Amino acid sequence: MRYRNKPHFVIKKNLQKSKNTGVYFSDVVTPEILKDVCGLITGQTDFTYQYVDNDYHDTFLETSYNKGRMAIMQYKDVVSYISFSEQEINGRNSSVQSVPTAFNMYYNNPYPKKDLYYYFLNVEGNAETEYQILIYRLMNTIGFQFLNASSELLRRINAFSSVEDIIFNRRINAGRNRSNNSTFITKGDSGEIEIYGKTYGANKYETSLMCYALAQLWQPGQIIKLFEVLEGDLKELPASSLNVINQMGVIDVIPTDMTLEKMIYDKENSLRSPRYVLNLFNKLGNKHCALCNCEIPELIQGAHIWPVSAIKKAPALSLDQRLEYALDGENGIWLCENHHKMFDEGMISFDCNGHLLLRNGLEHRHLKFIDEITKYDVLPGEFLTDKFLWYLSQRMAV
Ligand SMILES: [Zn+2]
Repeated sequence: MRYRNKPHFVIKKNLQKSKNTGVYFSDVVTPEILKDVCGLITGQTDFTYQYVDNDYHDTFLETSYNKGRMAIMQYKDVVSYISFSEQEINGRNSSVQSVPTAFNMYYNNPYPKKDLYYYFLNVEGNAETEYQILIYRLMNTIGFQFLNASSELLRRINAFSSVEDIIFNRRINAGRNRSNNSTFITKGDSGEIEIYGKTYGANKYETSLMCYALAQLWQPGQIIKLFEVLEGDLKELPASSLNVINQMGVIDVIPTDMTLEKMIYDKENSLRSPRYVLNLFNKLGNKHCALCNCEIPELIQGAHIWPVSAIKKAPALSLDQRLEYALDGENGIWLCENHHKMFDEGMISFDCNGHLLLRNGLEHRHLKFIDEITKYDVLPGEFLTDKFLWYLSQRMAV
């Protein structure tokens, strides 16, 4: 690239929908704002700029509308990628949309002297919810520098220090309305890191960012798997995001459509099904044993109430119905390995009020052990939906 003595901005002026909305990026990111950005990055106030059309392209910008709400600034032999926030932050994902795109552009350019920045426009609405903070921390982790965040905000959005740090904070942030979550991160029974990510609609932005940050913090020996949860015809992550994840080279991407689920259903009764696990996350929140509250993710399993082996044998059901029951989040609870085994062996069970029942004839010393490791003798009321109780009745009918 050409050496520039004076900072120079190039900005695509059309947003994707500018023609329909009449809102152009050049109306939002004005020369006054560029002046502020320039001062924050270079300490200079003297600069040049050009707003360009879609057909413009150079080393850093392709022929396109403005992707990633981006300005490119060249100064000396350094290029700065600056992505700008939305002005209205309403929905949970609205401020995140352009961020992975901005990162993809930055990441894909092989030019070595490059920096990545984020600039808050005058934001209406609350840009500092717990969810936003999580997103900013992910951005910080993958290399975004925040140009005009207050020092108070900067303290709250420090980069994550490890994969475990992300898992822990994601758990805290998961919140009550679990089905709203785009991603769940946990560990499988061999300690491998598993991301269950929705890849459609606005969910794909959070899933992409989560993967970038986890890949950034990857340590040798760690195995990270992304289970893409596809819905209907909805597809995998966008090619540009998958491309970056593949280049990072440490995350196995596993698309989980119904073809895969059918295969797993045919092969195993224990059903190591990504979709079942995701459905349990949506209903029950993060992995914790319903009977002893153990939270060690490697030890926690999804326990079917109506077992898959019994679903397979039940008469007069279509394959689709069987699959639906096998994958239903209502048909399960989280149990640790001990409690799961006891449940499957029939040593313990539940009545229709969710109370724990013990099999008659257990040895006294075993009863004592079960009593010692079991913290709760009744399931939380919120688990006991009509569907859950129906599955329980099917189990008892076996
Ligand atoms: Zn347990």
